[in-house]
Amino acid sequence: MPVEPSSPADSVPSSADSTPADPPRGEARRRFLQRSGLGIAAALAASSAATVHAAGVAAADANAVKLSLIQDPNTEQKEQTPDPNLPPDDRVGYAIVGLGRLSLNQILPALSQCKYSKVAALVSGDRAKALKIARQYGVRESAVYDYQSFEQLANNSDVQVVYVVLPNSLHREYTVRAAKIGKHVLCEKPMATSVADCQAMIDACRQANRKLMIAYRSQYEPMDRMIAKMVKDNQLGPLREFIASNSQNVGDPTQWRLNKALAGGGALPDIGLYCLNAVRFITGREPDQVIATVSRPDNDPRFREVEAGVHFILSFPEGFTATCAASYASHESRFFRLQGAQGWAEMDPAFGYNGLRLRHGLLVDGKNAVTELQIDPQDQFAREIDHMSSCVKRDAMPHTPGEEGLQDQRIMEAIYESARTGRAVPIARPTSPTRGPEPDEETF
Ligand code: NAD
Repeated sequence: MPVEPSSPADSVPSSADSTPADPPRGEARRRFLQRSGLGIAAALAASSAATVHAAGVAAADANAVKLSLIQDPNTEQKEQTPDPNLPPDDRVGYAIVGLGRLSLNQILPALSQCKYSKVAALVSGDRAKALKIARQYGVRESAVYDYQSFEQLANNSDVQVVYVVLPNSLHREYTVRAAKIGKHVLCEKPMATSVADCQAMIDACRQANRKLMIAYRSQYEPMDRMIAKMVKDNQLGPLREFIASNSQNVGDPTQWRLNKALAGGGALPDIGLYCLNAVRFITGREPDQVIATVSRPDNDPRFREVEAGVHFILSFPEGFTATCAASYASHESRFFRLQGAQGWAEMDPAFGYNGLRLRHGLLVDGKNAVTELQIDPQDQFAREIDHMSSCVKRDAMPHTPGEEGLQDQRIMEAIYESARTGRAVPIARPTSPTRGPEPDEETF
């Protein structure tokens, strides 16, 4: 049974991010509205939620104040403006399970920036802390639960999605319990600590006919998405190498991230996973084989149970490789570079909550040209949460469902096996796609 220390220990990436996304999008919203209602035409009569939501979008659009343009729209980037918000009653409600660092510093603030989502309940072992947070975010006292009373969420119709933000090995239990009481699940990464747990989570949600999405925020982040699009458009030519690193120097040796039973591993599942998932989703390819090593500084009390460092080389078809390193014992450093025969694209820093930078290099008129793309920052958490809400409203499959987390877990288990045996380990290709449809760039 989980406990909720009042001052959670943690060691996570950098800071939050801010600006709500695109300009007012009448057309995009109308498309969203159409999908909400018409995409399930046969079930239209039953889709009162979608209809209510569609009406909400329309109401939000109707309430949007339109101002005249003062810049030339043919030459100037559109001004960033906040979206008109959906009325609270039309939004998808979330129960946040676990009030640690990620929930308090990123998820709850991001929910305030969401267009289709709202916080509706809190689950915590520390009632005093939870009540304080509830007051801050306008959650009713009656919608504050503890881990024992979790099942009472079944009676709270404001909650459609349970967002599991607990230490990794607890993800399975709370996903299964949420599905059993009829709630959809958004679960933090890594999905779980074993392939068996990932499969059990997928099965539980399938049996209950509930959606399961893994919170791979980078897959909703615009710069990462831009590089994935460059690959799709073949701008870099045939792909050759992906080189990535994600490191941070962890503190408190008693934190759960250094406890094997709770974390499942060390740097690999926590931060190495970003490198692994990035190469898979940016290139759309799956590796066939891995060779890996893990390391620990001598006599370091932080790494009695889990690895400090991991290095792995993934081999893909057609000679493409990914060389990745992650460390819990090096100063913060996060980057990747994707190299193709005709160009490269990199993010440095990559993987963080903000301050990301994207550059790419190509030959232009016989000269090596390096370009830095400026993309206005957007809150990755708000985008991923709104994507889940949009899937709930449209009855659509999330872009990062449980199958995506399961495949990463399979590969992480192969990485550990290679490190243990000193041999290359084959990786079976997934038998069906691990991702749902691409999110709509504008509505998410
Ligand atoms: P944290 O330690 O700050 O918070 C964890 C919460 O779980 C705390 O409130 C703690 O009290 C509670 N908890 C319940 N049972 C517990 C138990 N048995 N032992 C320890 N704590 C227990 O951790 P966090 O940084 O919020 O991470 C939570 C999850 O979010 C992890 O799965 C982590 O990998 C993930 N995460 C994702 C990102 C991201 O960018 N997507 C960033 C950080 C963390």
